Amino acid sequence: MTVTPAHLRALASRAEALTAEVRALCGGAPNGSPEHDHLAMARLAADWLSRGAEDLQRAAADLAKLQSQPCGLPWRVCPEHGNTLSSGAGVSTCRVCRRTWTYDRPGQPCREPVTWKVIDRAGTETRMCAGHVLGARAAAGGATFIRLDEGAQV
Ligand SMILES: [Zn+2]
Ligand SMILES: [Zn+2]
Repeated sequence: MTVTPAHLRALASRAEALTAEVRALCGGAPNGSPEHDHLAMARLAADWLSRGAEDLQRAAADLAKLQSQPCGLPWRVCPEHGNTLSSGAGVSTCRVCRRTWTYDRPGQPCREPVTWKVIDRAGTETRMCAGHVLGARAAAGGATFIRLDEGAQV
């Protein structure tokens, strides 16, 4: 199983819920009562849980950043339509939606976020953006396409 940001966020919200529950429990014991003193450990546990929840949220954000690495394939596609670009004079135009892109230099790698994992028949794994997947779907017979959705097991 691969950990996704969604897994970490789910754990964080469980830790937050537990924190609130423990604190509500401790809050029920009046100051100076024997229960109040005995609940010192529980209050410490609640503090610890709440720090853990924060750490988990931070880890989820870091992981999301890591997983949204740019696609990086060296040819350009329309993010919505795939291999539909006609290029000329530094401008690429999508033949479907007519959107245009200008590039500083030819062969600039794709900066769209990676959202798919493609495994070809030889078992080679490539991660790419939605636009590149459209092109790959048309070209690669027998490849496996796996969407890297949050929460999906990759
Ligand atoms: Zn398009
Ligand atoms: Zn791409």
